[in-house]
Amino acid sequence: MTNQADRWAWSSDEIKRVGYRVIDVIAEHLSSLPSRPVFAPVPPELATAFLQDRAPEEGRDPEAILELFRSTVEPYPFGNGHPRFFGWVNSPPTVMGARHAKCGLDVRAKGLCGTRSQLVLYRTSEGHGCHQKAIELLGIGSENIRTIEHDDRWRMRPSVLAATIEQDRREGLTPMAVIASAGTVNTGAIDPLQEIAEVCQESDVWLHVDGAYGAPAILAKQYEHALAAIALADSVALDPHKWLCVPVEAGLVLIRHADAQRAAFSLVPPYLRTDGSMTGVGGPPWFSEYGFQQTRGFRALKVWMSLLHHGVAGYREAITRTLDLATILTEMLRSSSDFEVCEPQSLGIVCFRFRPQTEQESATPDLNSVNQAVLERLQLGGEAFVSSTSLNGVFWLRACVLNPSTTSEDLRALVDALRAAATP
Ligand SMILES: *Cc1c(COP(=O)(O)O)cnc(C)c1O
Repeated sequence: MTNQADRWAWSSDEIKRVGYRVIDVIAEHLSSLPSRPVFAPVPPELATAFLQDRAPEEGRDPEAILELFRSTVEPYPFGNGHPRFFGWVNSPPTVMGARHAKCGLDVRAKGLCGTRSQLVLYRTSEGHGCHQKAIELLGIGSENIRTIEHDDRWRMRPSVLAATIEQDRREGLTPMAVIASAGTVNTGAIDPLQEIAEVCQESDVWLHVDGAYGAPAILAKQYEHALAAIALADSVALDPHKWLCVPVEAGLVLIRHADAQRAAFSLVPPYLRTDGSMTGVGGPPWFSEYGFQQTRGFRALKVWMSLLHHGVAGYREAITRTLDLATILTEMLRSSSDFEVCEPQSLGIVCFRFRPQTEQESATPDLNSVNQAVLERLQLGGEAFVSSTSLNGVFWLRACVLNPSTTSEDLRALVDALRAAATP
């Protein structure tokens, strides 16, 4: 496996070779564990090097990654447990850190009932359902989510946001956070992040960017500009199990204010905290001080290994390629008289519907039910698979192009299968 693109295409022999090597590493590790010290602190230089390390530009071969793992990770298991080779990743809900940072009182001690003024959050109707879930779990209540109007491209209107925040302030509420989408799940729409960041800065409100799906597109030329203002966010959520192709599940949240995050979650009294010197049994700060989970699996390992394997260059190439494929699919559908694309198309998500030509308008069938039937036939047909969404009462078929192994022939096959499903 030498060139970047080949890293997505493993032959059966390669999978076996690397897989057996992985088994060897696991066997050596588990069988040698009892004869090794129970605890081996991570050497401070190594911990510092990890913290300062950047994602590599060029990808590496799996053997080299396994070797690096063996020399820099495997020797330092946490305690005497048996580390699992592949674990889970799950991100702590960022807004909780916001809750602590923006409440204006010690919300950890007093609870939300202690707040004199109601906390409010802002997003558009296109924001992901998980935002509501998180806000409900945080005890803030979904009635305190303001749905900010979007433009005809499903993007938040920053002027409406600014006016709503101001109005809430006047009414004695506490605007807490704005959740901007960097790639909505329905249409891939990207909120105007730069303008939203300016509003947040002016009104001292936490900016959380939900880039679960779309953030990695910042690597591609086409979206570099639209996504650049992610850098201004207080926190960013991104799902390596989506466009970074890390096995499910791997959630990731980046938070600008490490101290605020630690203050929100840490239960370690200050006198017991590691001082950042990276030495001793405590070693580097514990992740349990930065989230609500205490005992945790080594879920970051697969993310780290995937980054090493593909490198930034490998991801840039794969993401650009899948974006180009989404454009190709969009063009195929636009140029077919029997399909209609939901415009504007964005990122790798293509929403479209079957729209047969009819002689008279009056004979136009109910397109929602026609497309529902097309979807069901396609999904059960086994040739290709798309999902669906509903926008302003219109039922759309929805194709998400993000598999680096997809080819334009696969897209052609999808369109053929759609046509077959539409004309059974
Ligand atoms: C997928 C997604 C989520 C939810 O992430 P899970 O990994 O399913 O928990 C949130 N926001 C956006 C924009 C998403 O695409």
